[in-house]
Amino acid sequence: MSHQNLDHLRDRVDALNLEILSLINERAEVVQEIGKIKEKQGVNRYDPLRERHMLNLLKENHEGPLSQGTIEHIFKEIFKSALKLQETDHKKELLVSRKRKPEDTIVNINGEAIGSGEPTFVFGPCAVESYEQVAAVAESIQSKGLKMIRGGAYKPRTSPYDFQGLGLEGLKILKQISKEFGLAVVSEIVTPSHLDEALDHIDVIQIGARNMQNFELLKAAGATNKPVLLKRGLAATIDEFINAAEYIISKGNDQIILCERGIRTYEKATRNTLDISAVPILKQETHLPVFVDVTHSTGRRDLLLPCAKAAIAIGADGVMAEVHPDPAVALSDAQQQMSIPQFDEFYETLQKFMKSYEIQA
Ligand code: PEP
Ligand code: MN
Repeated sequence: MSHQNLDHLRDRVDALNLEILSLINERAEVVQEIGKIKEKQGVNRYDPLRERHMLNLLKENHEGPLSQGTIEHIFKEIFKSALKLQETDHKKELLVSRKRKPEDTIVNINGEAIGSGEPTFVFGPCAVESYEQVAAVAESIQSKGLKMIRGGAYKPRTSPYDFQGLGLEGLKILKQISKEFGLAVVSEIVTPSHLDEALDHIDVIQIGARNMQNFELLKAAGATNKPVLLKRGLAATIDEFINAAEYIISKGNDQIILCERGIRTYEKATRNTLDISAVPILKQETHLPVFVDVTHSTGRRDLLLPCAKAAIAIGADGVMAEVHPDPAVALSDAQQQMSIPQFDEFYETLQKFMKSYEIQA
């Protein structure tokens, strides 16, 4: 008899589960209808006051045996599930996501198709110090058949008393170099207010590690039609890095290069810790090209070559490194920039490495 009773009760539980299931779905459909009306009116779908009202109504009518807390928890989940259904596509899947766009995004700069399989190289001084200093590096870059040069005119330094860069004067030097040597210029912009005048002087907007979450700058760069080289923040997770790129693309600019430049860890042997596995992760998660900056990630000249090899071997679309005609007297990053003869040797060895693995540059 008690066995029969148990079966009967289980049948009721099954029936109740199905009833709850159908009610939850019916509720979701009604909420969806509301969502459509709200969309037409242009109002936010989530309304905290309305949610409070619904919870209060449940509280007034709740008689147990479940606790008030349990009921609130269950209903909050039901509310959330219906809201989730209405989330727009960009919330479910980011614009930078490979799920949203399976094909690689190619960034075209000065005849280079970045992200098309062959590594691109961006060399140049840490900071623009003078026309002669940049020209010496530009000549060496040009002689290698390379098409891009980097150099900071606005330097985000740890100390306000350190060299801050030549500013607009530096951008003018870069433009001059660009014309004379046929090189595209990559240079860091630190504030949206500099962007307008910078656009006449540079070919790629670099957004530095310290500004990776300067959302106004990201949005402003996203509203331009210049390619953006976005560096990973000093302590940014990959997810935060991807979302920073989403800020740019959400404003219409998909010409974005992600640049892994090391993250801060407890390790003291290198300036930062090069997160090499971030490269394939970013390539899997997004459709954007990914570079590795071997200078700022290591802070050590002796590690530039092995890390550049690692970057290429793991599938990076490009490598960035700093070169200065006389690193010992550089106004910034004196310990880690390569001299021109060191640059020659670095590049030649890297070329041999790539040939031995049949990687074309
Ligand atoms: C730079 O590339 O000039 C620079 C300052 O690097 P980061 O923003 O990665 O520190
Ligand atoms: Mn530097």
